[in-house]
Order: sequence, then structure tokens, then C-alpha cells
Amino acid sequence: MKVLIIGAGLGGLCLAQGLRGSGIDVEVFERRHDRTVDLQGYGIHLNEAGCAALRASLPAAVWALIDERAGQAGATSGFYDQRLRRLTRIGNGAQGRRRSVGRSVLRDLLLTGLADDTVRWGKEFLRYEELPNGQVRAHFADGGHADGDLLVGADASNSRVRAQRLPQLRREDLGVISIAGRTAMTDEATAGLPRAILDGTPNSVVPAGPGWMFVCTWSGGPADGPYVVWAYIGSRAGFPDGVEERSGTELRDLVLSRIATWSPALTTLVRHGDPGSVAPVVLRSMPRLESWPSGNVTLLGDAAHNMTPMAGMGANTALRDAAALRRILLDVHAGHRALLAAVSSYEEEMRGWANAALAASRRNAESAGTTNRLARGTFRVLLRVADRVPAVKKAVFERPSS
Ligand SMILES: Cc1cc2nc3c(=O)[nH]c(=O)nc-3n(C[C@H](O)[C@H](O)[C@H](O)COP(=O)(O)OP(=O)(O)OC[C@H]3O[C@@H](n4cnc5c(N)ncnc54)[C@H](O)[C@@H]3O)c2cc1C
Repeated sequence: MKVLIIGAGLGGLCLAQGLRGSGIDVEVFERRHDRTVDLQGYGIHLNEAGCAALRASLPAAVWALIDERAGQAGATSGFYDQRLRRLTRIGNGAQGRRRSVGRSVLRDLLLTGLADDTVRWGKEFLRYEELPNGQVRAHFADGGHADGDLLVGADASNSRVRAQRLPQLRREDLGVISIAGRTAMTDEATAGLPRAILDGTPNSVVPAGPGWMFVCTWSGGPADGPYVVWAYIGSRAGFPDGVEERSGTELRDLVLSRIATWSPALTTLVRHGDPGSVAPVVLRSMPRLESWPSGNVTLLGDAAHNMTPMAGMGANTALRDAAALRRILLDVHAGHRALLAAVSSYEEEMRGWANAALAASRRNAESAGTTNRLARGTFRVLLRVADRVPAVKKAVFERPSS
């Protein structure tokens, strides 16, 4: 069996590692020309499911490298009001402790042993073609092609594989914008912030009025040192026209104007933000995934279920998909299952957890972007009640995820 993977990102590389380690013939086609390009983005929080997927898929030595590099990000998430008074801190025991790792660092470690002989660089996928012999042929922008028994689209949110395989599946704009930036973690920039905000756990500032702020620290690398990521999230209607075209400095000033009445510690943090790091992100999400007839072209990760960053699930779900697809393909390799039946059962499993993650990330984005004061007030009351009544906290915020 020959597996072709489009995209050397987190999900595609995790699958490639797992298949290669099990003796399955696999090639990865990546549009970037080499591994040196730094990936955009900050850190990734790996939850229990993400770590388990990596452990199951990677050679022990590669997992050990990730385990060594990844920091601890606790098991809880904090909620504060705009004056940084605690609303509550929730922790989902079912998800266990999180690990934190830079997106580029993780991608580089996943390339260990693959970069030179399994990944084909500079191969931009254009389209595929079903061949009369039952195989599938991938065509690339350089005029080349490759044939395999299974084509896996791991080519992220604007997936061309998805566009051809499931053209009806399109991302939706949620009408919510996040302006994110990073601030070096100096004493001056973080003065007045509660210690619990600076311990690596994710934190949300939930004001009485519109807006929302996400705050989290990352240990960084030798070149950049520890930093704080902050993201101001709000309804698109509350931002000026053309906000996506503004410079980093203008965006940082815009956030400062929105949080002018919030805790001075938060305005200090944002004021010290590196303008080069400040960028807007329009929050988009795939709709709920309904079942589709399976074939020898399938999807994983953002290509199948691009979601907002508001639940910290995008990377974890991609890794979980990769581990599940590998497990099922091992059965095919061993002759225990037919390929199409195996792909169908992978897709069924994947839709289950992807739909749960899509729903959570959409709910969180819509809650952050709400302009409904009653809804916001009710949410804050719920957080305060949860802080005092453990049974409420458990029932509302700490249900085990699927
Ligand atoms: C810009 C950005 C920043 C992010 N930042 C964070 C973050 O800070 N924290 C977090 O938890 N999550 C973040 N995410 C989400 C998280 O990284 C993704 O959910 C996760 O990487 C999904 O893995 P994936 O394998 O599906 O896609 P990716 O890891 O994005 O990999 C997709 C790969 O496919 C390649 N590709 C795309 N099109 C083609 C083509 N036509 N031909 C060949 N190759 C192609 C891309 O170059 C890329 O290497 C970010 C996502 C993006 C896009």
C-alpha cells in the first residue's frame, strides 16, 4: 500500500511518522521549498489526546525529544473580569495536564528522520485524478505527479484536496475578529498581573461590556525568551472598516483604545507589545461535519475541520486524526481490512471528535464576540457561581470531552 500525504504540517507529519515506523510506504508533498520557513503562530497547547496521539505515532526517540522540549501548561484555565478580579478557574480533569510547545518547534521535531527521504519539498498540490486501476494520482504545480492507493489531504484550512473531494464543505466567517500580539515577559511589562496569569495556563478576561481578552505565557526559545501572548477578541461590527489592513502599531493602539478602562496591568502589557507581532485574525469555522461516501481520498486536521483557536483544539484534533488513521491503516497493511472500509470507519470516528471540537471552538468564539450585554452578564454570573459551587463548575465547565 502506498499513501500520499499533501502537507507537511502537524497532522501530515504525525501520520507520516506513524506509517513509516510501521513499514507502510508513504510520501509527503509540501508546497514550501524547505524546512527553514518559520511557521506563523505562537505556541500550541497539547492536551492528553494530542500527547497520546504523538506517543502512539512517533518513534520513541522523537516523542522523547518533544517530551523534553515541551513545557507544562497546567490543567486549568483562569477567568477574570476587566479589573483582573478572579471570576473562576476551571480545570477539566478528563483532559488532564497540558503541555506547551512552539508550533515551529513541534513541526521541526516531527520532521526528524523524514525531512530528506519522505518529504518532497516544493511540491504544491493542484488536483487529483482517479485512475482506472483504482489508484489516485496527485498533480503538482511543477508539472509532476505521484500515484498511490490513498491520498490524504493534510493541507490545512484552504485545502485544495477538500475543495475537490468535498466542494460543499466550506468555512464560515463567524463575524468575530481577534487581534493578537506578543509582549516580552519583562518585570516592567507584566507589573500588576496576577501570578496565576503568568504560569503558562490559558486565561480569559471577560469584561461586563463587549470584548474579551486571552492571555497566556510561553517559555519561548533561546532566541526570544519567555513572552506573553494576548489577543483581544470582539465582534467585527465593533471594529472600524479595513481593520485587517492596519499596521501592527495601529492595531495595538486600537486594542489599547478598547481596553482603556480595564486594569492598568493589561494596558501596560499591551502597550509593551511588539508591533511586528500584532496581527488580526478573522475567526472562521467549518460547519458541523455530516457523513459523506468514503473513497481513496480522505482528509485530516484543518483540511477537514478548520476551527477557531478559541478552544485550543486545532492541533490536538489534527494529531488525534493522524493517530486514528494510522491505526486503521495498519489493519489494512496487515490484510485484516479492506482500504475503503477502513477509511470509512476512520472518517466516522474523526467526525465524532471533530464535531465536538468544532462546536466548542465556535461556542467560545461567539461568546467572546457577543455584543449582547444580557448574555455576557449571565455568563459572568455563571462563572462566579461556578467558583463558589463545585457541582455547578463540574456540570457546566468540566464535562469530559469526547
Ligand atoms: C497561521 C496559523 C497560526 C496558528 N497558530 C496557532 C497557535 O498559535 N496555537 C494553536 O494551538 N494553533 C494554531 N494554529 C492552528 C494549528 O496550528 C492547526 O490547527 C494545526 O497546525 C493543524 O494541523 P494541520 O496538519 O491540519 O495543518 P498545518 O499544520 O497548518 O499544515 C498544513 C501544511 O500543508 C501545506 N500545504 C497547504 N496547501 C498545500 C498545497 N496545495 N500543496 C502542498 N502543501 C500544502 C502547508 O504549507 C502546511 O505545511 C495556527 C494555524 C495557522 C494557519
